[in-house]
Amino acid sequence: MKKHNQNLLHDRRSFIKGISFALGASALGMPLISFSTGAAGSSETGSDSEFETVRPSQKKLGVALVGLGSYSTHQLAPALQDTEKCHLAGIVTGTPSKAEAWKRKYNIPDKNIYNYDTMQQIKGNPDIDIIYIVLPNGMHAEYTIKAAETGKHVICEKPMATSVEDCKRMIDACNRNNVKLSIGYRLHFEPHHQRVMELGQQKVYGAVNKIEAADSFVLRGDPTVWRLDKELAGGGPLMDLGIYCVQGAIYTLGNEPSAVTAKFGEITRPDYFDEVEQSIDWQMHFQDGAVAYCSSSYNDSASRLYGKAKNGWWELQPSFGYSGIKGRTSEGPMNLPNVNQQARQMDAFAECILENKESRVPGEMGMRDVNILMAIYEAARTGKKVQIS
Ligand code: NAD
Repeated sequence: MKKHNQNLLHDRRSFIKGISFALGASALGMPLISFSTGAAGSSETGSDSEFETVRPSQKKLGVALVGLGSYSTHQLAPALQDTEKCHLAGIVTGTPSKAEAWKRKYNIPDKNIYNYDTMQQIKGNPDIDIIYIVLPNGMHAEYTIKAAETGKHVICEKPMATSVEDCKRMIDACNRNNVKLSIGYRLHFEPHHQRVMELGQQKVYGAVNKIEAADSFVLRGDPTVWRLDKELAGGGPLMDLGIYCVQGAIYTLGNEPSAVTAKFGEITRPDYFDEVEQSIDWQMHFQDGAVAYCSSSYNDSASRLYGKAKNGWWELQPSFGYSGIKGRTSEGPMNLPNVNQQARQMDAFAECILENKESRVPGEMGMRDVNILMAIYEAARTGKKVQIS
């Protein structure tokens, strides 16, 4: 059942002190990220020197999915049938009937089936190389840390966590255990979004001055679902969907915002939205003068990422789904393929492990985004422009 937890939205500022980020653009138009923290014991994540290549590149890495809900069932497990460098090797579930059904469907041996209490035993299992956390947002930190302590590499779904403090604990746990951490940011591996990164970051149409992004759906059904529970979700549509707008604006520009302004929308369905926002509009202000106008709602339908530059524009619509993405520019249609985003995302992480490279979507990027989400909430609560520290 839903219950309030006042401690969840921590005071961002106490955790942001000493943190600095720098973004740039690689030749492929991907946002690169470097990160440093004043906290004792942490290190630059740009270096992979402490990691060891775990196995020969000809062997597929084993992935264990933790949490067999909708995303694992309908996207990740099917995608793992399409991957080249990794495969579905194990599961962690609290529901015995799901364990039985998955075991039969995917031919998973009993020794690779765990529940939340036995998950630590993955430590000694050579079949599993990657643990993928696909639980409600408020559980990401606890289970990412548990996963890191097994010595396996970790993918954690978005949003990385419900506070910056938790993100930091997750990164520290992965560093301490010499494992890599990646966030489930599938759109970094999607051709239309990669084209947007290129158009914006390489200033193909000149400098970008305006971005518009919207990601919304109408949430119906059970009003006690975790997405409406502040403790488990961390917030409403901003945490779940708005994060794609934040990501889209940042990878369009290859830069992070310096300040945000925001306003919560009206609550027209108080039976659903008594803990988390129903909708939110916000603006992200960038150092070079560009502004991103964003919105996200659980009571609307939208999926759009638009960029306007000095000499042209581009638009993805629909933009943020698993398939059917359509793109055009001021010159015409983009004519790019839709791909299996999740398969590409997981293969890219497997490659990072096999070749000892840094993830394109590391924990530091997840933490950067949670920091911005918290600033947006603060701006909406206070009505003030909030600087991103
Ligand atoms: P879901 O509700 O369908 O599944 C959640 C799973 O967590 C279920 O198997 C449930 O049994 C399990 N669980 C364990 N403890 C729980 C508890 N205390 N309360 C509720 N569930 C509990 O959710 P989902 O849509 O699969 O989302 C899971 C995660 O994946 C979320 O973090 C979400 O943001 C993320 N997600 C990402 C994408 C993407 O495109 N990257 C898409 C969908 C979901």
